[in-house]
Amino acid sequence: MEPVFDLRSDTVTRPTPDMKRAMIEAPLGDDVLGDDPTVKRLEALIAGMTGKERGLFFPSGTQANQTAVQVHAGRGDEVLLERRAHIFNYEGGAPAALAGVQLHPIDTADGALRPADLEGRIRPVDEHFAQTRLVCLENTHNGHGGRIYPIADMEALSRWARDRGLAVHLDGARLFNAVVASAVPAARYAACADTVSICLSKGLGAPVGTCLVGSAEAIARARRVRKRLGGGMRQAGILAAAGIYALERNVDRLADDHVLAKEIAAGLSELDGIDVDLAHVQTNIVLVRVTRPGLAAADLVREVGERGVRAFDTSPSQIRLVTHLDVPESAARDVPRRFHEALRSLSSPAAKGGPH
Ligand SMILES: *Cc1c(COP(=O)(O)O)cnc(C)c1O
Repeated sequence: MEPVFDLRSDTVTRPTPDMKRAMIEAPLGDDVLGDDPTVKRLEALIAGMTGKERGLFFPSGTQANQTAVQVHAGRGDEVLLERRAHIFNYEGGAPAALAGVQLHPIDTADGALRPADLEGRIRPVDEHFAQTRLVCLENTHNGHGGRIYPIADMEALSRWARDRGLAVHLDGARLFNAVVASAVPAARYAACADTVSICLSKGLGAPVGTCLVGSAEAIARARRVRKRLGGGMRQAGILAAAGIYALERNVDRLADDHVLAKEIAAGLSELDGIDVDLAHVQTNIVLVRVTRPGLAAADLVREVGERGVRAFDTSPSQIRLVTHLDVPESAARDVPRRFHEALRSLSSPAAKGGPH
């Protein structure tokens, strides 16, 4: 039986026996009452790794991001962010529904906001206007195919925003992918922002969880918002233990995912009918553009799916592949091969004339 390569997302990773053992053996308390020692250990660990005063454990990245939005902005305020940002596109409209903020999305070529992109976007203090309070950054940038936010640009943006009295939140769901690929320390990226969210359940391999880090004051406010959102969890140490295991064992190995993504991308770039921009494959995400006239990304996804490659079409002409710790190295050879077979089958007369 050939292996199935599940490249839909790096969230599909399942806890290993060692990680499960760490979960089972973790000392527990009641984290809402503030005495779960394993949650406290995780929060101190992630704060130390990012150079922030405090960490806070959340059930999801969405809840951590939405908490940060509410810490920094209130009803009727405006939040600047990149157009393909997760917070704008994939969080169920929560900024409007829960925080009551107005989002102001800005186009970029690569997901990295630069001061020139924001010049003139801060609204004047006047009763006609929403008040601009917050800028949200994303690194690596999911919607832009795992691109790394260049540190010099991030530092320039951060200075620009802070000079103008704006708060900065970094959606660092995959921050450690950026850290490993760029060799820029997590603390240097984190210094650009007042709060940073970091997913443990993506490439790091934990089953559940995201941490938010920031100053003691920001995290105290975040704790209150998290409770209000229903994110106060009791014996949460059983989950936090997986997060500790992930942070201690699975950060450096993200480099393997990046190598595999580049290998898969290189193989796919040889094929007719699709196109991959190899220079943009910087971490664990590969964006495949379907270039054959008349071929829909969804049809190619279905066809490779029948050959044991699971992926998502992210637009009518784009497919996204994500590598992670449950993808074997043989994917470097087999994924392009299965795409090749799928493309060939879709161009055969039988497929063209086939039923729909
Ligand atoms: C996955 C992700 C999140 C959070 O997602 P959850 O599924 O809520 O944990 C936030 N931002 C980015 C960029 C992501 O990729």
